Amino acid sequence: MQTITSFIGNESVPVGGGRKTFTLRSPVDGALTATVQEANEADVDAAVRAARAALKGPWGKMSAAERAKLLDAVAAEIHRRFEDFVQAEMADTGQPRHTMEKGFVPRGAENFEFFAGLMKTLSTEAFEMSTAGGPVLNYQIRRPKGVIGVISPWNAPLLLMTWKVAPALAAGNTVVVKPSEQTPRSATLLAEVMQKVGVPAGVYNVVHGFGPGSAGEFVTRHRGVDAITFTGETVTGTAIMKAAADGVRDVSFELGGKNSAVVFADADLDEAVEGVFRSAFLNTGQVCLGTERVFVERPIFEAFRDRLAARVKAVRYGRPTDPGTTFGPLNSLEHREKVLGYYKKAVEQGATVVTGGGIPDVGPELAGGAWVEPTIWTDAPDDAAILHEEIFGPCCHLAPFDDEAAVVERVNDTPYGLASSVWTRDLQRAHRVAAAIEVGICWVNSWFLRDLRTAFGGAKQSGIGREGGVHSLEFYTESKNICLRL
Ligand code: NAD
Repeated sequence: MQTITSFIGNESVPVGGGRKTFTLRSPVDGALTATVQEANEADVDAAVRAARAALKGPWGKMSAAERAKLLDAVAAEIHRRFEDFVQAEMADTGQPRHTMEKGFVPRGAENFEFFAGLMKTLSTEAFEMSTAGGPVLNYQIRRPKGVIGVISPWNAPLLLMTWKVAPALAAGNTVVVKPSEQTPRSATLLAEVMQKVGVPAGVYNVVHGFGPGSAGEFVTRHRGVDAITFTGETVTGTAIMKAAADGVRDVSFELGGKNSAVVFADADLDEAVEGVFRSAFLNTGQVCLGTERVFVERPIFEAFRDRLAARVKAVRYGRPTDPGTTFGPLNSLEHREKVLGYYKKAVEQGATVVTGGGIPDVGPELAGGAWVEPTIWTDAPDDAAILHEEIFGPCCHLAPFDDEAAVVERVNDTPYGLASSVWTRDLQRAHRVAAAIEVGICWVNSWFLRDLRTAFGGAKQSGIGREGGVHSLEFYTESKNICLRL
């Protein structure tokens, strides 16, 4: 059994000191795998103080280029310890090795490479003005915001945490990270990386624990935290925003979604089936950008349904380390209860199960894991819960449509506005529909392709602000205008 502790001021917090602990169970078979020491309020306070001190220490005195060099070294060290990160993420999430090796771990390293690179080429704005008193030059400089509280979720732990930590540090801030209580490993491993490459003490701090009444709340409430960046559920975002109101502190939120795919009859059917399969079932459906509502133009509805169902039936359950595994468990038994609750409700409210709907037979060795079947429904009534509430599981509902304007209205009939995808060969229609859907990001004939220079975030109740490229710097820096009368 591993013991995981917080990391404050470049040191692991010693075990003990009367701190509470909690245990981690493998999502794959339910075995106990680690004990985590919960940070108490004094620990969080120490982490914030360490972060504040670092702003005034060597970190605060470094040039952007020097910081960028260190962040490049962080990325290189993640690559050097690639297998350790893959193991940590597999242990925490139960997801197949392939997902970690090809996706989430390299993208974690890339976040540091990208934001280090961005800082090396960043430009600023300047305006010349003539006045009666002589010429005037206005120019912008950016300064770090200060100590950033980073609160991250469990579904892609390293990727989502570094998506915030990398730009925050690149811009000269320091961070106090509160990873999800369910997936604390990679944030802890990243602390070792920071220490190894020489990131100064206090720049990167990790405090473990839960949300309310625990480390999450202590971080967001702490007045020494200048701004909070959060990825997670919309209800949690609401609580954090209330905490941030004290001291009028800035927030950047990436929240929940109820995303749609719209498949037109002229789409490349093979590509659309594969794309929707990935978008609904990758990471066992635990992707904020994932598709839970699919609208298919009537002439191809049945063909699409049958092909998608065949694809789903071919998944292979298994341990993440088994090369044949294509489909992992949910993150926890608690989350499985939630997802199974929707599976039950779907049927009660009149949906037809095309495939799935229950717990798969994974054999006695894995029976204690959080396994669910990937599930497809049709025929749910318009007010069914599965069409309106975020399930965050491997499931989607398919509905036929006949009219473009009507389908856009159905897609937009949700308080969420995170992502969508449109599948068609008609470029004009693709543009028209993508522009009309109320989301922060819309893919055409693709899904989850990310250019890190672009703005990422949600409309409506799916978020506040945008991160990515220079958009991240809007949040992680204070823009200052200097007005110089020459
Ligand atoms: P969550 O909101 O339950 O927890 C996220 C983090 O917030 C955890 O670290 C948790 O401990 C902490 N937390 C909970 N309550 C808190 C409080 N009152 N104060 C401070 N911290 C608190 O989310 P989750 O279940 O970990 O993740 C799944 C959710 O995240 C889904 O809704 C999903 O859509 C969303 N998500 C969104 C994006 C995006 O980019 N928009 C990306 C990934 C996940």
